[in-house]
Amino acid sequence: MKIFSQKAVLIAGALTMISCASQQSAQWAVHDSSRPTPPVVTPGQNDNLPPSDAIVLFDGTGLSAWKSCKDGSEAKWKVQDDYMEVVPKTGSIETRQAFGSCQLHIEWRTPDVVQGAGQGRGNSGVFLMGKYEVQVLDSYDNKTYADGQAAAIYGQKPPLVNVCKKPGQWQTYDIIFHAPVFNGDKAVTPAAITVLQNGVLVQDHWQIEGTTFHKVRSQYESHADKLPLQLQEHGNPMRFRNIWIRPLEN
Ligand code: MG
Repeated sequence: MKIFSQKAVLIAGALTMISCASQQSAQWAVHDSSRPTPPVVTPGQNDNLPPSDAIVLFDGTGLSAWKSCKDGSEAKWKVQDDYMEVVPKTGSIETRQAFGSCQLHIEWRTPDVVQGAGQGRGNSGVFLMGKYEVQVLDSYDNKTYADGQAAAIYGQKPPLVNVCKKPGQWQTYDIIFHAPVFNGDKAVTPAAITVLQNGVLVQDHWQIEGTTFHKVRSQYESHADKLPLQLQEHGNPMRFRNIWIRPLEN
């Protein structure tokens, strides 16, 4: 009887899985001509440039999309040519607009002249929702802890590979981020992140363990569905350019 019950539970479980799968696909017949087609998006002139449905956060013309994290005043980083540059001691900056799940493109460049070592060399960070840091660092021949090098989810997950370019060269991050879903203080669906650095996969749908901290184990604290994107001032004159974002359904 006991064995029969276990079998029954297994069969019921399997049927539930089949039923869930069929519910997803049964909405539409195969090749259903009434199924809505996806919206048309015009791609950028090259794959780094914003497609037609992207929100441009920085195109070299000014910092109007950004403000100081400290007091909400104008962002005080320098804008020159097509890039913005961190001005040490002016603090981190964040977008005026809030975002949740998204696709983000951002380009960054560490200083030509190498100064400092480890975490003190070309440090900045892309903070999704102001809480989850994808580390930015000069990790070209620069020893530091694995979960703090460039493209690490800071304090949690080193990148799959180190694909950093030499100092003074522009590098790209293409990030796909799914915001966490909370039930009270519990993250019932953790955030998930995929990162390509210079076109190479460095984070593969990593389930983020919580807010990233220095020397403190991450944990979740519930927060709003949408929050500003943050760029970190860490005392180094880092540069960023060509920043655009596409909000996604979670
Ligand atoms: Mg950092």
